[in-house]
Amino acid sequence: MSYSPICLDCKYFLRHYTRRENGSFVPTAFGHCYHPRIKLREVEDPACDKFLPRRGRT
Ligand code: SF4
Repeated sequence: MSYSPICLDCKYFLRHYTRRENGSFVPTAFGHCYHPRIKLREVEDPACDKFLPRRGRT
């Protein structure tokens, strides 16, 4: 089985979190990419040609 990188694995992806009433943070399925400009992405979106692996993810 081959590995297909997703935005969650990329160093340019910043995940969005939501805060519970008790103050803890929960990861959402969304985030944004900041390279080469800011845009919304989902964690499982297929990686594009700008992909660079995030340390500790791949
Ligand atoms: S859109 Fe491309 S550069 Fe942006 S987070 Fe996803 S793989 Fe990385």
